[in-house]
Amino acid sequence: MATKIVYHDRYNFPYKLMQAMSWALAIGSLGFIRNIHPFIGDRSRRVRDFLVASGRFACQDFIAPEMNEELILSYLQPQYREIVHNKLLVAGAVEIFTLQFLPYSFLRYHLLEPMLLASCGTIKTVELAMQEKLAINLGGGFHHASFYSGGGFCLYPDMPIAMKEIRKQYPGLKIAVLDCDAHQGNGTERALDENDSTFMVDMFNCQIYPQDSDAEKVADVAVRLNFGCRDQVYLQALQTIALPAIEKFAPQLIIYGAGTDIYEKDPLGGMNVSAQGIMQRDKLVKDFACQHDIPLAMVLSGGYHIDSGRIIADSILNNFVL
Ligand SMILES: [Zn+2]
Repeated sequence: MATKIVYHDRYNFPYKLMQAMSWALAIGSLGFIRNIHPFIGDRSRRVRDFLVASGRFACQDFIAPEMNEELILSYLQPQYREIVHNKLLVAGAVEIFTLQFLPYSFLRYHLLEPMLLASCGTIKTVELAMQEKLAINLGGGFHHASFYSGGGFCLYPDMPIAMKEIRKQYPGLKIAVLDCDAHQGNGTERALDENDSTFMVDMFNCQIYPQDSDAEKVADVAVRLNFGCRDQVYLQALQTIALPAIEKFAPQLIIYGAGTDIYEKDPLGGMNVSAQGIMQRDKLVKDFACQHDIPLAMVLSGGYHIDSGRIIADSILNNFVL
């Protein structure tokens, strides 16, 4: 097994419990409900369990990141850093208004800390990718968060922070971000350094959230796809636009946002890519990185259908385990 997999059981959170509590409190207090995210809080654990059940991984094969909240928060702008003390800001950032009615200690333990730890996991994954060539974080990819704002269920800009951290060890490292989540990676785009050592390719459904045209200008290549985009169009765009652009940039590291919300049954992505298509996408990216001898750090990003965990695990077993 060459691929290193980063995971911690505290990545997971009881989303259905949070949802139920926030709904109940909202009905009881204001009668106002805005609760739109069909989030799967234990997707990371599901992937881990599928991998272990395959018999090709043991529990001790997963590398647990260490929590370093101070480090993550040090990158946030002071006003946004207040989020860790303010329920209203947290509720706004994850766009679930009713969360503000839950106790802060509950939100901290079940939402903030899992996302902080998953962000530390992305830093660890990037380090491992530089050492071992292939590494996967079973979480992270919070691409709607920047250093001064959150949104779309993303609180911490894990990928830009990981890039800054790895450049402490490898100054000037040329890094390509390949964001294949169904949604535009506007937070990552807003957090990118304006220098020649970073290159961002963003493939997304341009007809859904966030439609952030200012952030899109920062992306070096924006592959704008449409509602209902199928396997052939998606994979062709990857092969003819995204990967050739990265090849031309010649990075020394690729950070790959392997969102599974492009899946045909996903309730949020609005695209029509099959499970086989997603696995083919991951294979193309992994093969590209291997053929060019570029370290690849993969993060999970979005994916809101119950099949998401199974698809990710199948892709890891088929594409990333030698
Ligand atoms: Zn997404």
